[in-house]
Amino acid sequence: MTTTSSESSHLQERGIPAGSHMVQFSENDTSLISAVSAFVGAGLRAGDACLVVATQSHRESLEQRLQAEGLDLAAARAAGSYVPLDAATTLARFLVGGEPEPTRFRATIGPLIEQAARDNRHVRVFGEMVALLWAEGNRAGAIGLEDLWNEQGRLQAFSLLCAYPMQAFSGHAHEAQFVHIRDQHSRVLLPESYSQLSEEERQRAFALLQQKAHSLEIEIAQREAVQERLRVLAAIVESSDDAIFSKDLAGIITSWNSAAERIYGYTAEEMIGQSVTRLFPHDGQGEFDEIMARIRRGERVAHHVTQRVRKDGTLLMVSVTISPVKGESGAVVGASSIARDITGQRRLEARSQQLFASNLIGIFVADSLGRLLEANQALLDLVGYSWEEWQVAALTSPLASFVLPLMEDAGGAASVTEPQETVLRHKSGAELPVLVAVTCLEDREACIGFVLDIRERKALEQRKDAFIGMASHELKTPVTSLKGFLGLVQRLLADLPDARVRHYLTRMNVQIDKLTALINDLLDLSRIQAGQLVYRREQVAMDDLVAEIVESVQETTQTHRLQIEGRSRAEVFGDRDRLGQVLINLLTNAIKYSPGADRAIVHLSSDGTQVLASVQDFGRGIAREHHRKIFERFYQVDEPQEKTYPGLGIGLAISQEIVKRHGGRLWVESTKGQGATFHVSLPRFQRGRQPSNGSREEIP
Ligand code: ADP
Repeated sequence: MTTTSSESSHLQERGIPAGSHMVQFSENDTSLISAVSAFVGAGLRAGDACLVVATQSHRESLEQRLQAEGLDLAAARAAGSYVPLDAATTLARFLVGGEPEPTRFRATIGPLIEQAARDNRHVRVFGEMVALLWAEGNRAGAIGLEDLWNEQGRLQAFSLLCAYPMQAFSGHAHEAQFVHIRDQHSRVLLPESYSQLSEEERQRAFALLQQKAHSLEIEIAQREAVQERLRVLAAIVESSDDAIFSKDLAGIITSWNSAAERIYGYTAEEMIGQSVTRLFPHDGQGEFDEIMARIRRGERVAHHVTQRVRKDGTLLMVSVTISPVKGESGAVVGASSIARDITGQRRLEARSQQLFASNLIGIFVADSLGRLLEANQALLDLVGYSWEEWQVAALTSPLASFVLPLMEDAGGAASVTEPQETVLRHKSGAELPVLVAVTCLEDREACIGFVLDIRERKALEQRKDAFIGMASHELKTPVTSLKGFLGLVQRLLADLPDARVRHYLTRMNVQIDKLTALINDLLDLSRIQAGQLVYRREQVAMDDLVAEIVESVQETTQTHRLQIEGRSRAEVFGDRDRLGQVLINLLTNAIKYSPGADRAIVHLSSDGTQVLASVQDFGRGIAREHHRKIFERFYQVDEPQEKTYPGLGIGLAISQEIVKRHGGRLWVESTKGQGATFHVSLPRFQRGRQPSNGSREEIP
């Protein structure tokens, strides 16, 4: 059915174009009923037929209103111009699986409209079925039904008014749906409050609405930003390692984060609504009152160190900062607390203090410039000063100059340097031999130093040195005589026909030479200790010296071939015999510590200032941790499961001393199991710089 032009003009006279599909967004039931009664009332008065598909309560309210306006509904109903229908029942007739089914819809609605349109009456329909679907949350169903009504409008002429409660679209999420519903209708009716306004008032109301909408949008954006900030803050509070909680002025807990649960052992449910004094030890009421009095005055209580009780009854040491929380009026309404569990830290501090105060080891703390910041009693007792006296810069500086390089030596945090020997001065002026090691604190801003008194060890060493000196001296004379007499005997018995006697005498001679070498080493060592080793000074051609020594050491071995590689073509200035002694020592070690090898090499080279002789072997090698120590007196690498080698462990100490006295350096490069190379680097003799050629002076 289509609308004729006469019909449409007839409808337009009533302000409703034929076939219009209107929507009423109502603010409440009253405004809805007003709008519907205006729509239906005007229709009935104009002789239109009106179909009202509404809920029972809306139908009743509508009928009351229409009757109050003087309309005879009973007559209209009898004439078929007022047709009330129940929205839910009608909807059920064409709903399949929650969706309005098009054929059924047409079969239900089509005849109703056709019936109403008898006698050429125009038909008005008020439908609430879409609103029902919408209220159930069936948005797709409602939108689908609106489309079916629009399709029906193309088949039959009728005016349709749909109604939705405005609050059904509250919130941003429904904005798009609102626009969709609005677009499905040819007209949108304003709520009654607006429709009754004059044009001027309406424009003003419209402007006001726009302004309100704009401020609302701004407010919503601000609220969202605040909410976002709150979410971030809440996440920070939750992830904090410190207990964070709030309380009102009576001390009642109002919030409780997960660190608080962990530290105090109570869950948020157990604590919120409870007094904070639950965490205080028995006598804590006074402390609570004192804190709250300060909070009420608007003061902050910072880093308050105190005791609290966990749920399991254990005592905790905490550092708490409590700040007043102000309400909108600016008055203090409660307090926030941030508490850190410092029980472990305090325990550690107490232990460190105990260690520091121990009277066995001297301990000091120095800053990055090596200046003393603290010293324990053991160290003060050792040096005989009071702390105030020892702080005087002049007294501490010797330690500073010693500590600084040590600090540089110390690797990463927590690693301790190798202990080093040094001498402190006692208040009495006496020298104090000590061992010092340092460990740097994490930021390297300071270090902790450990000082060990080694006076007794030194005294013992001196007695040992004195004994070695005396014993070797006492042994030297009889062994020298023995060697002399043996020489005599050898000469006297040279013509004896029995060769065995000569053989034994030669063997005796070899053994006496070994004994003499040992005694000489010991004598050298004690002379070095006493600073009495005498060096001659002469020009020494290195290549000749090395060739000579290699030749003589070669005679002592049948297992190893000794090779020389390279030439230095240089001279050094010093004691030829002592330098020879160094080479002999290195070569005999190279043979001794490479029992499985068959050669050793002496590499010779020089540059403008240095002459380098390096003795390389292919033996057992030396692990890195021994590289420094093997140059100490009596130090021998003692590896379990390895064979032992004869020796006193003093050859390298003597060699080191000799090389040092020549202004040179002796060091080793080696990896365990891969042979070793000992390098001797000596200053090259340069004419004009040293005493004149050929002079043989003896100096102490
Ligand atoms: P000694 O050889 O009499 O023990 P040294 O002072 O000459 O004493 O050497 C000290 C220690 O260094 C030796 O005991 C040995 O452990 C180690 N050492 C020296 N030279 C070598 C080498 N060439 N290969 C492996 N280890 C060596």
